[in-house]
Parts: sequence; structure tokens; C-alpha cells
Amino acid sequence: MADGINSLMREFGIDKSPIREVMETTMSLKQQGYTDFWDFSIGNPEVPTPPEINESIREILDVYNSVDLHGYTPNDGWEATRRAIADDLNDRFDANADASDLILTAGAAGALTSSIAALTTPGEEVIVLTPYFPEYRLYIQAWSCRCVPVPTIAGTFQIDVDAVRDAIGPRTRMVIVNTPNNPTGAIYSEASLRALGDMLRAEGKRLDKTIYLLSDEPYREIVYDGAKNPWVCGCYENTIMCYSYSKSLSLAGERVGYVYVPKAVHRHDEVLEALHGAQRAVNTITGSLIQRVIERCVKARVPIEEYAARREIIYNGLTEIGYDVVKPEGAFYLWLRALEPDDAAFAERATKERIYMVYSGDFGCPGYERLSYSSVSRERLAESLSAFQNLWDSYGGYTW
Ligand code: PLP
Repeated sequence: MADGINSLMREFGIDKSPIREVMETTMSLKQQGYTDFWDFSIGNPEVPTPPEINESIREILDVYNSVDLHGYTPNDGWEATRRAIADDLNDRFDANADASDLILTAGAAGALTSSIAALTTPGEEVIVLTPYFPEYRLYIQAWSCRCVPVPTIAGTFQIDVDAVRDAIGPRTRMVIVNTPNNPTGAIYSEASLRALGDMLRAEGKRLDKTIYLLSDEPYREIVYDGAKNPWVCGCYENTIMCYSYSKSLSLAGERVGYVYVPKAVHRHDEVLEALHGAQRAVNTITGSLIQRVIERCVKARVPIEEYAARREIIYNGLTEIGYDVVKPEGAFYLWLRALEPDDAAFAERATKERIYMVYSGDFGCPGYERLSYSSVSRERLAESLSAFQNLWDSYGGYTW
């Protein structure tokens, strides 16, 4: 009997993704009062929000009346907030952005969802680079599009431009890139992004269509050793940028980010109109109060030294034991090659040592584990190394 329940949404709802599975296990352990384990599952930013955030919340309470603070905002967000962000992009990247080129959203998730809704039609294909943030698949399939995974270069996890070219066909509408990357911590080189842009331009010409590059940048400011994340919009004219304050300001629960459409994007005004429409239809608008806060705090940042110190402890410790891990250049994840090819079995065996990490099936790149070091203190990270040593010893090192 047809019961009207959307089977795809139901599948998303009941799907036990590895991230959810591990999170549910560790949450239940915590609820039962256990603390003696290492939870590497969640990318919840633990470094406190910069003091300016709470100070401006207090200040704002006295500045605005109830309606201006808690009432509806325009669908694309307060103009003053968009102007402050545009000015900041112009200062830092010479972006030539206006407030009207921006739409405020509920985090990067909202920005990605609105962009995919606005720029695809059912049946089109969206290319993602593996390993990829697993939620992309949902954001794509929700609009009846096909998620097409394309591997990055083995070992470095940089963009394989030829492989992306091979995956492009008449149905391709978009490629999603994420740098600094979740889960590998890689920063895509500017040269590779430019080469990708050149290729997309040529393929667009050949197929007589616009292929968009959706640049997902929630970790843009979380970079180490003075590394610079390339300005992706400068590498290809048809780039739409999705940004979030979840990580750079540790505001994940406030749900605030934006979509930026540079003036160079083909049919710029119509793209923005479609995004405005998506914003109405999908309603990924963010709250009024937090928009006022962002207006005042666009230059604020969490101290990334804390993440950098954690990265040193866990990366150095694991490589000394012998684990195969790529040193993260940004974000706060470590991508570790499992000691056996079955990543789920390896993750399960690690729990015997009280280590909880996410196996890589959902990231489209088997044989790995993702460790988030954002929610584990330096002290606890150092303590985890003896557990990782036990795990290593139990296998006698790599079996493959
Ligand atoms: N994109 C990537 C690569 C992420 O890692 C995340 C969150 O972890 C998101 C998007 C969604 O971020 P937000 O909290 O801003 O919606």
C-alpha cells in the first residue's frame, strides 16, 4: 500500500552511517558514566569561541529592540552583516564582493543544500572527490541528482584532474571541492585548482554548458605551519563558495554561514535569483541574533594553536609507532591507513583498546579511519598513544 512516506528521506533517517554509529556508541558510554575511552568520532569544535562573540551578544542585547533582534530577517540575511563579510573578503582576497553577492545560511550545510538546489536539475551529476564528507551524497541525492565519486591521488589526496575529466559527461553539472579537507587534512594546491579550473572551462566549452565548482570552505582559517588555503574563486570563474563559522568561530550549534557568488560567475544575477528561490523553498536561513554577532566579529578567530598542538601530539605519536598517516595541513582530522584492509573490522578491534574512530566506507575510500582531534585534549591524546601501541602490537603492524 502506498503510504506517502518518501523512501529516500526515510533511508537517510534510518541509515546507520559510520559517523552516526560511532557517535551513538560514545554518547551512550558517556551517559552510562564511562569516561575512560578516546572519542575520535566527532568534528565538534572544542576550542572555546573567541571572547568577542559573547561580549558582542551582551552588547547587542542593549542595542536592538526585540523585533530587530528576534524577528524575521530578510531571506538572504541582514544587509549590514553581508556588507561586513563582503568588506572582509575584499580586504583579504581582493574579491570585489558586494553585500548583494552573499546569502547568509544555516552553516555550510545550508549553503551547500541551497546551492545544489539552485544550480542542478533532476538527473544531473555532481562529482565529489574521494575521500569526501559523507553528507554530500545526501545533499545531492535529495535533489534527484547522482553523486559521482572520483578518487584523489593516492598518498597525497590531492586533486587528480585527469580522473575528474574522465568522469565528466553530458549530465555533469557541478564538482564539489573541500580545502582544507575533511577527512584528510590536505590543502589542495593552487596549481591543481587552477588546472581543475582550466579543465572545467574546456569541458564546459566542449559540452556547451556551465560546469560549476562548489567550494566548501568551513576550515579555511584552520591551517598549520603558516600554510595558505588558496582563494578558490580566483582559480575558476564559475566557482560558488560555501562558508561556515562553525569551525573558525566554534559556532557549530548556532548554524551560521553563507554562499558567495562572485561577479565572474556566468549569469551571475540569475544564479543569485535561483539561490534566493532555494533559500525560500528550503529555508536554510540563519537566526537574527547570530547574524548581528557576525557583523561585529568577521575578523575574530579561534586560537588555532590549540589544534596545532594536538596535531603534533597525535601525528608524531602515531608515525613513531609506525602508522601510515598523512600530516594534516589544515582542518582537525587525521586520515589513518587501517592495519587490515577491512576498515570496519579494524575500527571494531580498536574499541577493545577503548579507541573510537570512524571507518572510511562512507567517505568513499576503503581501508582508512578518520580521527577527529578537535574534541580530545592534549593530555588525553598523549595518553591514547599507549592504546594505539597495543593495537599495533596486536596485529604486529600492517597486514597489507
Ligand atoms: N562541509 C564539511 C567538509 C564539513 O566537515 C562540515 C561539518 O563538519 C560541513 C560541511 C557542515 O558544516 P556546518 O556545520 O557549517 O553546516
